[in-house]
Amino acid sequence: MKQITLGCLIALMMAAATAVKAQQTAGGAFTHNPDELPCLTQADYDYYNDVVTQNTALLEAQGLRAYQPGLSSEIIAFDWPVAQASGFEYNSTWAISNYVDHDDTTGALEDWNCGVRTYDTSSGYDHKGLDIYLWPFTWTQVDQEQTEVVAAASGQIVFKNDGAFDMNCDFNSQQWNAVYVEHSDGSMAWYGHMKNGSLTPKNVGDMVTAGEKLGIVASSGNSTGPHLHFEVYDVNGDLIDPYVGPCNPTTTTSWWANQKDYLNTGINAVLTHTDIPDFGSCPAIETTHIANSFQPGDTVWFFGYYRDQRSGTSALCEVITPSGAVFSSWTRDFANDYYSSWWGRSRVLSSEEGTWRFSVSYNGDTVTHEFDVAELSVDESSLLQLSAYPNPTTHSTQITTTLPIANYKIYDLTGKIIAQKTGINNIEATVDLSSVSPGMYFLHAKALDSDQSIGVKLLKE
Ligand SMILES: [Zn+2]
Repeated sequence: MKQITLGCLIALMMAAATAVKAQQTAGGAFTHNPDELPCLTQADYDYYNDVVTQNTALLEAQGLRAYQPGLSSEIIAFDWPVAQASGFEYNSTWAISNYVDHDDTTGALEDWNCGVRTYDTSSGYDHKGLDIYLWPFTWTQVDQEQTEVVAAASGQIVFKNDGAFDMNCDFNSQQWNAVYVEHSDGSMAWYGHMKNGSLTPKNVGDMVTAGEKLGIVASSGNSTGPHLHFEVYDVNGDLIDPYVGPCNPTTTTSWWANQKDYLNTGINAVLTHTDIPDFGSCPAIETTHIANSFQPGDTVWFFGYYRDQRSGTSALCEVITPSGAVFSSWTRDFANDYYSSWWGRSRVLSSEEGTWRFSVSYNGDTVTHEFDVAELSVDESSLLQLSAYPNPTTHSTQITTTLPIANYKIYDLTGKIIAQKTGINNIEATVDLSSVSPGMYFLHAKALDSDQSIGVKLLKE
């Protein structure tokens, strides 16, 4: 009996040791649109083409249509249609899941570079646009409005739809939140799947300039996750794939000002965490466990977030102490091709206090992330506190905090978010309550460099 007990104990100890070891590394691939559903159905195309035709005819009749045949000799050259909003610090926030499918045969695929990064469906749909999805933490990015859809070229808005639900994970018959822009040469770009309420206040007939924010990347319409669907037509209404390449019959010159490579291998983010991120399932906002402040001896999870990871390549990861010594370094060898992936491991910090660095080098790029290590003092200077003045208010109130805050959200009594602000990075912020009805609200603010958050009641008179 004693022996069996001892045997069990050893087995338990070994199991525990294995579990600890297994938790020291983590990661995997992230796949967008695994079900490959059509971004637009034929009914959608019929509807949108009708509305665009009506809108341009109306603008024409009113003498307001910017495009006039022969008026402009401008060559349209697209800038990249997504951009990271100010106040955020990822190296990049996007990856590509699908190009245009140039093979009309159902079940056969061909993108502009003769690859198969595209899709069709058994119903006869060939993907007609460029799908740019968010990576990493796609739903957190939507929530925080981290990635903006920006006009790839200047032009006139000829279609706009807002108000559609924006957290779709599956096929549906809903409209998408979208803006269509007609350029000076009569060509047109469609920007779809955007966040409800995030669209430019401009309307049909208004002009936008290249780089101007059109909305926020999200998942409205037929969409399995947050992404921008960017689709282009020439003046004759013929589909254009803006990439020049050996298997793209729609153009002999690139429509991009600076055409990106077929593969965009690189690092999207280098982050430190208190635990392994939990990606959850669509449309849950991820539990990122991101942290930038630690105490001596803490366990830190170091993750690199990669785009277009290629088999046979490797990334060099280094943790550097405040005095410049290499505390830990490791090489991550990649055995697979992934559109997006995340890989990392944990380390127990030493007692050295100050600003540490975690850097990842991959495919010729090095991205460095700083984090602080300090003994947590228990005096009030390390606690997040908040005051609001005036409160009650008739219009706006000024909040002041003891620590810089990253964001705040305002909830009504039902728990619905009625306003929020991200990227604050300050100890002061103005809260505008002018457009909400009188009543009681709750403001919830989150510290910039720690997990602390604080709530306060706001009264609008
Ligand atoms: Zn698409």
